[in-house]
Amino acid sequence: MVAMASNLHPEVSSFLSGGPKKLLIGGQWVDAASGKTFETVNPATGDVLARVAEGDQEDVNRAVAAARKAFDEGPWPGMTPAERSRMIWKIADLIEEHADTFAQLETLDNGKPITAARRDDVGGTIDYVRYYAGWPTKIQGHTVPVSMPDVFGYTLRQPVGVCAQIIPWNYPLMMAAWKLAPALAAGCTMVLKPAEQTPLSALLLGQLILEAGVPAGVVNVVTGFGETAGAALAAHMDVDKIAFTGSVDVGKLIMQAAGKSNLKKISLELGGKSPNIVFADADMDAAREGAAAGIFYNMGQDCTAGSRVFVEQRVYDDVAEYMAAHSKRLKIGSGLDESTDIGPLVSKEQIERVTGYLQLGRQEGARVLSGGERVAEGELARGFFVRPTVFADARNDMRIAQEEIFGPVVSVIPFRDVDDVVRQGNNVVYGLGAGIWTKDIQKAHKMAAALKAGTVWINMYNAVDPAMPFGGFKQSGIGREMGFEAIELYTEVKSVWVNLG
Ligand code: ADP
Repeated sequence: MVAMASNLHPEVSSFLSGGPKKLLIGGQWVDAASGKTFETVNPATGDVLARVAEGDQEDVNRAVAAARKAFDEGPWPGMTPAERSRMIWKIADLIEEHADTFAQLETLDNGKPITAARRDDVGGTIDYVRYYAGWPTKIQGHTVPVSMPDVFGYTLRQPVGVCAQIIPWNYPLMMAAWKLAPALAAGCTMVLKPAEQTPLSALLLGQLILEAGVPAGVVNVVTGFGETAGAALAAHMDVDKIAFTGSVDVGKLIMQAAGKSNLKKISLELGGKSPNIVFADADMDAAREGAAAGIFYNMGQDCTAGSRVFVEQRVYDDVAEYMAAHSKRLKIGSGLDESTDIGPLVSKEQIERVTGYLQLGRQEGARVLSGGERVAEGELARGFFVRPTVFADARNDMRIAQEEIFGPVVSVIPFRDVDDVVRQGNNVVYGLGAGIWTKDIQKAHKMAAALKAGTVWINMYNAVDPAMPFGGFKQSGIGREMGFEAIELYTEVKSVWVNLG
């Protein structure tokens, strides 16, 4: 069933063999109540990798009930912060022990180059989980100086309760960890729904979470589709909080569902159309390289992808041509090949969406400097490969510059000066990331303040760190993940008044 099986880690082969993968509910691996399964596909070949249980409303009900029981009655609430901390650290150790397996699974299921899967997805996840392993012992309330005689006031910071966590397919393991680790640190219980395109690494993670000794029902994993399993979670009356990463349209549906049901707390990390801005006074080697890497990393399937590169007029041609030449040097191939730079897009649906935008860009009058098409010849034609594409002569009001493409496609747009680029850069519904390349420190900090984005990178692009808050302005989302901000998402503050009189 799996191409190149001979190169696979034995643990990966054994994970993929056997019957359909099951749901993790209440510490047990179970079939979907309906008995239904769906296929997950290797985007490099179009072959089926595995069948996976198709969870639905009934399974969501069971998983939420298991999470509720674990929160209200299980051993989890009574555990000391130090015990929770050790358990989360143990999860990180186990991910590290199975790092090669995770990296290959991620590449098979998502398509991404194995070098990135190993270093960033798996390596980054381990660091991230360890960061949150340190938090349980540091979550605290305050004493509060209320202005009344003989009254003592203090706050308790307590877990918010049962959390639903719905994640996308672009960094499947990392997105699962971004959601699970702070919620575990806070003492919540949860139901995780991986994306239907990439359910495998979350299932392996569920296995290791049990192995680490996390009590039954604390982490439940329900694989299935968004419109069914995902929507059931968003509308559930017994879910206290929902955390979502994905598209703006679905983010809005989730917010509506929360509003129509029990007003569960929400946090949303949505799309982006991030400006990566190159001034003529930048270190040009670093800026051009950063502009290219900012869009082509992970085949552009990244919510902070620098998909609008703004270039000061007098260096415009130089930067655009450099990016086109760079994109032609990138090696396209199977993610399992160590030398691959550009793997396939995640799915048939995604390649259709991206190639649709390639056509649209031409119609809108942008000039294709490189790429502009699907790989249609040879072995790769079976998979979902598209050539990295640079559109020159793009304008900010074109649809290719306003809409999130989520592929290796960049619009290179000229600008005149600071005011012009601030206006153009902010003229979009999103506000997730922004990059600024200049040696002028005053300009850099003025720009950082003026750009409406949750993250601004100066003379660097697309870095994340577990300690640095991450999230969006405008339609890029609500709330911040990472750092203490993620602990805030998963806790409630309680004010306690004591009459000492
Ligand atoms: P993309 O367009 O990148 O696939 P989506 O926002 O559609 O992103 O998907 C992100 C996650 O949201 C996936 O886990 C998907 O199953 C889930 N999802 C999709 N539709 C809904 C919905 N109506 N309600 C809840 N979750 C959904």
